Amino acid sequence: MTGGNLTRDEAEERARLVSAEHYAVELDLTRGETTFGSRSTITFGCSEPGAATFVDLLAPAVRSVTLNGEALDPAEVFDGARVHLSGLRTQNVVVIDADAAYSRTGEGLHRFVDPVDGEVYLYTQFEPADSRRLFANFEQPDLKARFQLTVTALARWRVWSNETLEELSQGADGANTWRFNATEPISTYITAVVAGDYHVVEDEHTVRLPDGSDLLIPVSAMVRKSLAPYFDAAAILEVTKAGLDFYHRIFDYPYPFGKYDSAFVPEYNLGAMENPGLVTFNERMIFRSKTTDASYQNRAETIMHEMAHMWFGDLVTMKWWDDLWLKESFADFMGAYALTHATRWERAWVSFATGRKAWAYRQDQLPTTHPIVADIRDLEDARLNFDGITYAKGASVLKQLAAYVGEEAFLEGARRYFQRHAFGNTTLDDLLATLEETSGRDLKTWSKAWLETAGVNTLTVETETGADGVVTAAGIAQSAVPEFPTLRPHRIAVGCYSTNPATGAVELVERIELDVDGARTELPQLVGKPLPGLVLLNDLDLTYAKIRFTPAELDAFEAGGLAALPDAMARALAWSGVWHMTRDAAMSGRRFIAIVLRNIEAESDISVVQNLLRQLRLVRGEYLDPAHRPAADAEISTRFWDLLAAAASGSDHQVAFAYGAVRGATQDSDFAKLKELLSGELSFDGLTVDQDLRWAIIETLAAAGLDDDSVLADREAATDDTSDGRRHRAAARAARPLAEAKAEAWRLVVETPDQPNDLIGAVLAEFYQVGAHELAEPYVGPYFDGLAAVWAERSIQNAERLVSGGFPWPLASPELLARTDEWLASDAAKAPALRRLVLEARDDAARALRARECDRNA
Ligand SMILES: [Zn+2]
Repeated sequence: MTGGNLTRDEAEERARLVSAEHYAVELDLTRGETTFGSRSTITFGCSEPGAATFVDLLAPAVRSVTLNGEALDPAEVFDGARVHLSGLRTQNVVVIDADAAYSRTGEGLHRFVDPVDGEVYLYTQFEPADSRRLFANFEQPDLKARFQLTVTALARWRVWSNETLEELSQGADGANTWRFNATEPISTYITAVVAGDYHVVEDEHTVRLPDGSDLLIPVSAMVRKSLAPYFDAAAILEVTKAGLDFYHRIFDYPYPFGKYDSAFVPEYNLGAMENPGLVTFNERMIFRSKTTDASYQNRAETIMHEMAHMWFGDLVTMKWWDDLWLKESFADFMGAYALTHATRWERAWVSFATGRKAWAYRQDQLPTTHPIVADIRDLEDARLNFDGITYAKGASVLKQLAAYVGEEAFLEGARRYFQRHAFGNTTLDDLLATLEETSGRDLKTWSKAWLETAGVNTLTVETETGADGVVTAAGIAQSAVPEFPTLRPHRIAVGCYSTNPATGAVELVERIELDVDGARTELPQLVGKPLPGLVLLNDLDLTYAKIRFTPAELDAFEAGGLAALPDAMARALAWSGVWHMTRDAAMSGRRFIAIVLRNIEAESDISVVQNLLRQLRLVRGEYLDPAHRPAADAEISTRFWDLLAAAASGSDHQVAFAYGAVRGATQDSDFAKLKELLSGELSFDGLTVDQDLRWAIIETLAAAGLDDDSVLADREAATDDTSDGRRHRAAARAARPLAEAKAEAWRLVVETPDQPNDLIGAVLAEFYQVGAHELAEPYVGPYFDGLAAVWAERSIQNAERLVSGGFPWPLASPELLARTDEWLASDAAKAPALRRLVLEARDDAARALRARECDRNA
């Protein structure tokens, strides 16, 4: 990986030595398209006069370094990643003047040129350690300081940073200078700059504080100009204001960062980033085409997640990246919690159960899983830790903790934590200490079981019945895999559901709450009664565990019994259970498909429906025995055209089923319909074949060999000449089942450095297609042979996508596993983070093989 690594030991030593106090950062964005001026004046203390330390900086050139008035030779003190300083005094001022580089990969100061109008848009993204690409600094979270930014840029632009503007001065040469107020003490990774002629909507919001006073918070939302027609700023600001009200109510600590700007930015590598006062979001949350309410819910949840960070993460920050989970789990939990309490998405925990949690369960069953509290030795470890364990498992476990200590004790613990550690840094012990105070419980044992061990438990109902169907014995078995054998205490609910013979409706007969512990927990409440049609473990989704169903329960699901469950959360758990049984080869892929096709129409929760569509695609492509695939293909496509035709006009289900039909098209008759949809000869009342849907159709046709000359894709890109259109065109061209199309795509994303990450992702998503063995075969060698170079030469975000997305998954076989193992045993596999990605891709392939085996024998 390019750029200096920083180890935990180095960071600890530097924090012992150095106290960062103030940064004056001056940026000059008028120097051209590749570099900009960056001058950083750092005032800092040193606890050991005479000692040496270093300042982090990733920049192509350093012009000058001045320490305490003495000029140093940059050639001597700058090694490409660090500026070495020695002979420190108790109080020091260092001035480092550099030429820094714009980024094309979203790390540092990203520069985007809009193909629609040629406008330039800039924004920063730093976590965990890329602010050193903008200015020289001590890049570690526990060296907090006040930052004062001054930015010179084109006069017709606007510039934003974490703080409010102090002064705008007009230059003579078409450039203005924006000088911002100094920030509160914050960490380097959450400093931020956004610049360009953004379209901005400004407003303000007043929150009432507990002492009766009012706090006025200016709020705004911005996006690049060419997306302005699609920009629903009012909806975004409504959620933002609801969040500000809600968090003031429950956190009891006034918003500490003055203003709240939300910038929706292009080519963004992640969902969003919690820079205080200036949150950045992926502009894909601004919808050019019709999308379902699940997308709006997801966006609102992201807004709430980032806002929770203003307190948990920005005000109080982890000492080092080991405790990244502290802020991410909390924010992820709060994202859903705030939606249920402060917005119209009252059932946010349902989508959390099937979406966020599926991410956690998947990650936790990879061979590379780790405890929530991770051992992060250096920045490379830190970068890979932004995963399903840190976010979604952590949030699931906090949900279990809130059930365990009680919600009020949980929130009171958070309040004391903010009061006690405001503008400081913490570790896990600091949070546990306040939670122990407010709950009166010892959380050491809980923490050991849940935070310091890895792996997921499986819960299974075990019953015995007499000849009359009455239960004679019942219990819950808890198991774990041998690699991660910890059994845990679980607070759970058990829902007993049966069909009412009078009405034919499935009803909740009884719900039992209990603590499960150890390998078997008795369930005496069931004994002496008729066995319910479904015994649903973890009803209400209080704990984090997989559940299993009996063959009879699965039969009932296949006959429509899943959709008949009266409660959305109960259905979500049933969906989640059948998904895990399929992934674990405890149930065939064919059966999964049958259950989905039978029950999906009646599933009212649209986020669950869309999650099922994604799972169905994966099962069809990777978990079926190839001999069963043609029949499944036909069933899926027939069913989705029927569902589309039957869906209510203009409904979210209609949109979801339209994408299901498009993405599930495999038959000649399907492709004929897709062409008719494009041309307008076929239409469905209430369904607009808008830009996103058109691209989905074109990509599908291209993959089927029906756009080999790229006529459709090229023509569409001429109409939709936007960054989205260009990305879709590249994806459609990569999808074509031609050797030269694959060669072109490989050249574009693998052999060309510094491509935007969303382009790499889109192209690799279409590069391999189900069953296309001959086209994938030539890339096995180049993939493995090129891994070490990709890792050494590309940015981490580029490299991650290339390693995971380039793995030749259609060729999953014992031979491919052996080829992967051979690479893992080689010298090329030394970098731990690279190794981890390849191990994960290998595990996906091995899982697919087991699932196929199960499907073959079922
Ligand atoms: Zn976060």
